[in-house]
Amino acid sequence: MIMCGIVGFTGNKKSAPILLEGLSKLEYRGYDSAGIAVLNDGTIKTQKTAGRIKSLMDNTNGGETINGSVGIGHTRWATHGAPTTENAHPHLSGNKKFAVVHNGIIENYSLLKENLINDGFEFLSETDTEVIPHLLEKYYDGDIKTTVIRVTNMLKGSYALGIICADYPHMIIAAKKFSPLIIGVSSDCNIIASDATAIVNTTKDIIYLEDGEIAFIQPDNIEIIDENQKKIQKEITTISWNVAAAEKDGFEHFMMKEIFEQPKSVANALNGRIKNKKVVFENFKLSKEELQRINMIKIVACGSAYHAGMVGKYILEDMTRIPCEVDLASEFRYRNPIVNDKTLTIVISQSGETADTLAALKKAKSSGSHILAIVNVVGSSIAKLSDDVIYTYAGPEIAVATTKGYSTQLAALYLFSAWCAQNLGTISANDLEYFLNSVKSLPQKIKETIDCCGNIKKISKICIDSSSLFFMGRNLDYAVALEASLKLKEISYIHSEAYAAGELKHGTISLIEKGKIVIALSCYSDLSEKMSGNIKEVVARGANIISCTNEKSPVISNQYITIPDIDSRLIASLEIIPFQLFAYYVAYYKGLDIDKPRNLAKSVTVE
Ligand code: GLU
Repeated sequence: MIMCGIVGFTGNKKSAPILLEGLSKLEYRGYDSAGIAVLNDGTIKTQKTAGRIKSLMDNTNGGETINGSVGIGHTRWATHGAPTTENAHPHLSGNKKFAVVHNGIIENYSLLKENLINDGFEFLSETDTEVIPHLLEKYYDGDIKTTVIRVTNMLKGSYALGIICADYPHMIIAAKKFSPLIIGVSSDCNIIASDATAIVNTTKDIIYLEDGEIAFIQPDNIEIIDENQKKIQKEITTISWNVAAAEKDGFEHFMMKEIFEQPKSVANALNGRIKNKKVVFENFKLSKEELQRINMIKIVACGSAYHAGMVGKYILEDMTRIPCEVDLASEFRYRNPIVNDKTLTIVISQSGETADTLAALKKAKSSGSHILAIVNVVGSSIAKLSDDVIYTYAGPEIAVATTKGYSTQLAALYLFSAWCAQNLGTISANDLEYFLNSVKSLPQKIKETIDCCGNIKKISKICIDSSSLFFMGRNLDYAVALEASLKLKEISYIHSEAYAAGELKHGTISLIEKGKIVIALSCYSDLSEKMSGNIKEVVARGANIISCTNEKSPVISNQYITIPDIDSRLIASLEIIPFQLFAYYVAYYKGLDIDKPRNLAKSVTVE
């Protein structure tokens, strides 16, 4: 979920101080730029910054220097266009009659923009959002309601919108589809916001907007229509949350909130990229001819991104038949890797600022390699220096231990593998269709997987007193074992090791003794018999086995985690879910600081 912040205010006092206060409450959601628009005496004025809200506060004496009792504000998490002042919201129509803040992605913006440009509208930003104020101007017939309905009907994708119009001096308009937006109701003013944190200081009476609904809000009146344009009465809920809980949507920790966001985040990563049974990456520089010349793929990354890269290696090699190596960025940068203009280098980093990955990128680039980045943060250093970028659109990730960041990296790698295979002709049309249909089912399957992890709490309790445990698997199960083990280490501080199951007997099996917990990952059904053999080896030495299987891969064990079945190339996306939850609960029962584990930072910008 893209998680920027929206606020809006209409009442009988100055709106700017309330908007800025609301935006600072939403800062925790992560943002790269911010802005407000206030309507006063028929004129809309904006204040924007490519920096922090504090600079907006400093420039306006906390909002006191801006007059006007109606306004909207925004913290942006860039998806289309770098985080600059021009791209910051609110965006204005050419005639300055409308100001708009938007959270989400307008998928059909390029077509809309092209038509608007042909009509003579001038664009001042690179955002998808800017089509909205221009469309409002184009279709405005003097009636704000019919105009907003008409324009929102033209938008495809996700949006929470806050709109003001110079002709309506007391009104803010809120519209929602697949992005969060709520209304805070009070006796002398009304507020809109992305979540309750920005509202609870003013009121605890909330109306939750549903997808497709539009609200026309004045200080003394709120009119809401549903997706069929029928006026509706909505219930007002009084919330009892304190601010801390509101930030986390009622979850105790960001990590859990982000685990639950994964179906939506993966859907965002896939959105608009599968068209007519093919993968489409708009604006890709890497051409089919260049791809055909590539004889080596290097994936370079650190930490969980490296583990996503491991999954990528198995799939890319399988689908493209191009040799693929995964390298730790910190190793790659200090050795003499074989990289040239026939090498494709894929760098993966959630923040796009990982120092080692950035250095490795520069090294590969100077050797003539084409660079493809898989990153979450738009406009980040890695994104800027790469030839092509696949943004993962996970939205800001706040817990230090990545969950949705990793899952969306996997989604990007699946799409890229299929894109290569379709261009190289290394996949049949039938198989491509089957694969892409399975990829499309991931959001739903991930949701089902979260739902079927009911016994994880019990299994976690069994493990809290262990000082060390093992994960083992083969093929993609092994790649997931690496990430599962890292998750556990990061937040529970329990030592663990992930092993390629066939490798155990080459040394590590000497550590297996009575009661040692071994977690066997066995979802890759082609190898479940081999895994059964490995399980027997460790059981014979007294191991206590917890296994993760899907319906197709039965193995013997003391405790089972079962996940739904899916195309075996995609198992990593489901199999990691129980182990994110496992790490969470082990840390939880140990009473540890789950979102901020000791010694770790979210974005590792130093070597
Ligand atoms: N897609 C819009 C942009 O890039 C909105 C992003 C957001 O939700 O902050 O400006």
